[in-house]
Amino acid sequence: MGLSFYIISHFLTGAIALFLGWSVFKKHPKRLVNRIFALSALSIAIWSVSYSVWLMAGDPTSALFWARALNLGATLIPVFYLHWILVLLNKNKNKLIVFYYLLTAIFVLFSYSDYYISHTIPVLIFPYWPQMGWLYLVFIFSCWISIIVYCLVILTKELQRAEGNYRKQIKYVLIGSIIGFAGGSMNFPLMLGIDILPPIGSPLIVVYTIIFSYSMVKHRLMDIRFVMRQGSVLAASLLTIISSILLIKYLFFKFTAAQVEWVDYVFLICGILVYPYINKYYYRVANKYFFTSLYDARKVIASLSDKLSSTLLASDIYQYITDEIISALHVKSAGIFIFNKSLRRYELKHYKGNEKNKIKDFIKDKGFYTNYLKTNNPIEVEEVKKTVYVKYRKTVDILAANNVKILIPLRLKNKTIGVIALGEKESKDDYNDQDIAMLGVIGAQSAIAVNNALSYEEIKNFSKKLEHEVDVATEDLIRANSKLRQLDQAKSEFVSIASHQLRTPLTVIKGYISMIMEGSYGKISELQRESLDKVYQSNERLIHLVENLLNISRIESGRLQLNKEVIGLELMVEDVVDELMIRAKDKGLELIYKKPKNKLPGVNIDREKIRQVILNLVDNAIKYTEKGRVEVGVEQKGNYIQCSIKDTGIGIIKADFLDLFDKFSRGTGIELVHTEGIGLGLYVARRMIILHKGKIWAKNKSKGKGSEFYFTIPIFK
Ligand code: ADP
Repeated sequence: MGLSFYIISHFLTGAIALFLGWSVFKKHPKRLVNRIFALSALSIAIWSVSYSVWLMAGDPTSALFWARALNLGATLIPVFYLHWILVLLNKNKNKLIVFYYLLTAIFVLFSYSDYYISHTIPVLIFPYWPQMGWLYLVFIFSCWISIIVYCLVILTKELQRAEGNYRKQIKYVLIGSIIGFAGGSMNFPLMLGIDILPPIGSPLIVVYTIIFSYSMVKHRLMDIRFVMRQGSVLAASLLTIISSILLIKYLFFKFTAAQVEWVDYVFLICGILVYPYINKYYYRVANKYFFTSLYDARKVIASLSDKLSSTLLASDIYQYITDEIISALHVKSAGIFIFNKSLRRYELKHYKGNEKNKIKDFIKDKGFYTNYLKTNNPIEVEEVKKTVYVKYRKTVDILAANNVKILIPLRLKNKTIGVIALGEKESKDDYNDQDIAMLGVIGAQSAIAVNNALSYEEIKNFSKKLEHEVDVATEDLIRANSKLRQLDQAKSEFVSIASHQLRTPLTVIKGYISMIMEGSYGKISELQRESLDKVYQSNERLIHLVENLLNISRIESGRLQLNKEVIGLELMVEDVVDELMIRAKDKGLELIYKKPKNKLPGVNIDREKIRQVILNLVDNAIKYTEKGRVEVGVEQKGNYIQCSIKDTGIGIIKADFLDLFDKFSRGTGIELVHTEGIGLGLYVARRMIILHKGKIWAKNKSKGKGSEFYFTIPIFK
């Protein structure tokens, strides 16, 4: 075994140790166990790198310098290792560790003295092998041996009681420790001048670091696998290239004895050229041996279910599914196909992966999916290939050509709502039973989530459609409404014009009849008077009606103006009662005006309009009362003057109360009893009272017991 072997293996050990230490530290810089591990790795790196440099030394002085440096590293190894093991196993041994640190400090202090490493001599193939002083011997016994023995004992004890993953971690640490320390210890006999055995174990330290790395990756020792994934591939690629170059260079010079400078450049270019291939190779190896079987199916499923329950958006759900599968299985590509009900075929909705291996929109073969996707389990394309009917072979060939390895039907209530298609794994491995089982669960889980998302999408689209329809309908309504308004306006104008045209002749008629009845045109007989009286009454009713119509058209066209003045309401009421007295008497009714005891405060009103209100109410009372009496009263109620009109007439039934004050509303069946009247009196009254900031209402009395109407108007202040 030549020197180069030692040089390369120690250099490798150093690089791996540095990388490991750095990764572990990077992962959790604040965790003690990670920090101490980093220091422990650093001590190994100092030792092994100095070891390589020492071997390359050309003269005794520099050889002694590097031999001391490597032994300085060796001095630090046991104490950091001990500290790390104690923290790892959670053992609180502060005094012990402080003792060893102090002891180590002494050795470090003397590491460049003759007591520690005195000189170098040629031993076996080594031209400058260091010889130890008495202090180094003390170090071997007091530190090296005692720490190894102690740690092996506590590790073995821990192994016996440890369980599960932790047990595996301990096992690897124990094996690594034995190999590493056994290897390292092989350097000592030569240092004591015992040259029976070359230190062939020394390079075994690299095995020890690799075992640690494996344990870290495989059994999540200190959980750094993700930090290591990229880094380890990079480091391994670089190390392979560098060590191969060193080896080739060594052999080149050994056999040619040439001293050509351009050789270095050739090596450099070659190194750069081969790097991508080596990197790819290690990536595949890493995926195959370190990472593929790393996922914990339960965790993957739990994490996916967590994510799936966090959203209702189909696009997010597709993304989560492919991401989770890709990160667990290191699949090159994954696509999700969803069944389109209207097109009656599956459509590619989401795709992730390498463009080159793009899963094409392949499921056009209806027969294939109705026959083969009718299962709750993932389908392996390779398996189907063996059994597929001839007519579906083409589809399977397309799948295979596109590197589709697995189809996971998304089944719900016996319907396949979609399919997840997976390409090959990065490692090019087949999908194993564990993968298939997990994918089955993922399929079932995803089917529910996808279905929910699709329903949600459907509802969203439906509500959008609905919104649109409502908008259209609203527009129609607005148009219809404006048309109605126009019509209403036209009607109001018509009524207004017609009423105006009617009012003048009616007033003229009234005047002439009055004059005739008063005898202005000669005496009239009793028979004539009776007839004229009827004409007069009918004319009065017409005037009343026209007045109401006019008021309505004014109110609705917004032309109604109030000419307010402050007057006593009781005078006005008395006036109206007087006016209607003859009508009441003619009907044989008693019309009583209950005069207030004191003079009431004035109200600010439009005389004509309020007169119309009182007239409408008292007129109704007379109209709808066959016998008995009508009682009209005015009184003060707080800040209001209240007028009441009570009769002993037909009363109002409950059902009529609802729209009593509405336009054209008449009591149920009233048109049979009282043909005259069009249901405007109460409407006009209410509008007038509202304009005067008052209230109007009727009391609910049962039919036949008469009715009571009230209105109030605020007192003028
Ligand atoms: P009209 O009297 O022209 O029908 P109104 O608006 O004055 O219209 O009255 C609406 C309806 O209210 C009447 O048709 C009638 O059924 C009912 N009504 C009004 N006043 C009384 C009352 N004093 N007694 C019984 N019913 C009444």
